[in-house]
Amino acid sequence: MSQFHQSRKYKPRRRDRLRPATTFRCTRCRLDVSMDAPGTAHRNHCPNCLWSRHLDDDVPGDRDATCGFSMEPIAISVRGDGEWVLLHRCTGCDEIHLNRTAGDDNPLLLLRMAIRPLAQPPFPLELLSGL
Ligand SMILES: [Zn+2]
Ligand SMILES: [Zn+2]
Repeated sequence: MSQFHQSRKYKPRRRDRLRPATTFRCTRCRLDVSMDAPGTAHRNHCPNCLWSRHLDDDVPGDRDATCGFSMEPIAISVRGDGEWVLLHRCTGCDEIHLNRTAGDDNPLLLLRMAIRPLAQPPFPLELLSGL
């Protein structure tokens, strides 16, 4: 009889079930970001400031990393199909991750990052006119 009462007591209720998180708070600009991102299955950076967090280990979305430090967006790379990829460097352990850009990423910040090397060339651009 007491056993019956116990099993009733510990029956899982609907609100006890674990649900995957639907938002995260950006460590950089404190924006609450929805996990749903247009154009990618795993939202892994803030669309407002493009900063990320070191949560994934080898596979995007695995959440296996123990680091947890903020990851700074440092550069844009372009894949063969023309897709833009963001390079993030971890401020804690210097690991670099490649992340697909999302459809709602801040276009001004993306462009600013893409033209930064041209704005600060390591040689005078006038040299090119002499070639
Ligand atoms: Zn942010
Ligand atoms: Zn790290």
